[in-house]
Amino acid sequence: MNAPIDERCAHPACNCQTRVDDPYCSDYCRRMTERPGAHAGAPCECGHEACHQQHAHERRHPPQA
Ligand SMILES: [Zn+2]
Ligand SMILES: [Zn+2]
Repeated sequence: MNAPIDERCAHPACNCQTRVDDPYCSDYCRRMTERPGAHAGAPCECGHEACHQQHAHERRHPPQA
């Protein structure tokens, strides 16, 4: 069986999909995950438009009211 390709970025705040050979969608996410706490709770700024749209959606509809 073939492995699925829709891997999620390893950066907790990021919603991007990644390639199977890289756990992060960008160097930004790699740095953020290696240094948790520096930007704890901050929205992802990886630069991918779909990811930023997801954060904008969360601001209008917070997961917990
Ligand atoms: Zn992202
Ligand atoms: Zn990412």
